Amino acid sequence: MNRIKHDAKTRREILKLIGQGAVVLPFAGLAACSGGSDNSAAPAKPAASTPPPQPKPEPAPSEPAAAPAPAAAETANMPRLAEDDPLAQSLSYVHDASSVDSAKQPRYESGQVCSNCALYTGGDGEEWGPCSIFPGKQVKASGWCSVYAPKA
Ligand code: SF4
Repeated sequence: MNRIKHDAKTRREILKLIGQGAVVLPFAGLAACSGGSDNSAAPAKPAASTPPPQPKPEPAPSEPAAAPAPAAAETANMPRLAEDDPLAQSLSYVHDASSVDSAKQPRYESGQVCSNCALYTGGDGEEWGPCSIFPGKQVKASGWCSVYAPKA
């Protein structure tokens, strides 16, 4: 009987405490501990500012080198471009730049010759040399054509 009295008294005290909110706070605290805000058991996520590791890119293949100038022996065997060659005529090529009629060739300026043209690959002092406009043929160092471009 004493125990029943004691239990009733305890229940009343508990209900009184609930009414005052004293019991709710510890439960709220537990809920916070086991709730969604604490995810210590979840696997760690990478920081947003740290990008995932990327595989290293393969090195780019090297650029193909420009076609090398023909070797000296190869150049010596190349035929010389004739002024009456159809391509030479279409580009107004002449062996002697000083003979260019500037009235007919307004791009021509005195001093322009094959040897100081960017497309000429002949050696310094050589009388004839290769030109990329006329592959397989040599042009005269003192020549000129309408494609002339000054060396840089
Ligand atoms: S492109 Fe230049 S080197 Fe070739 S023929 Fe014309 S002027 Fe001469």
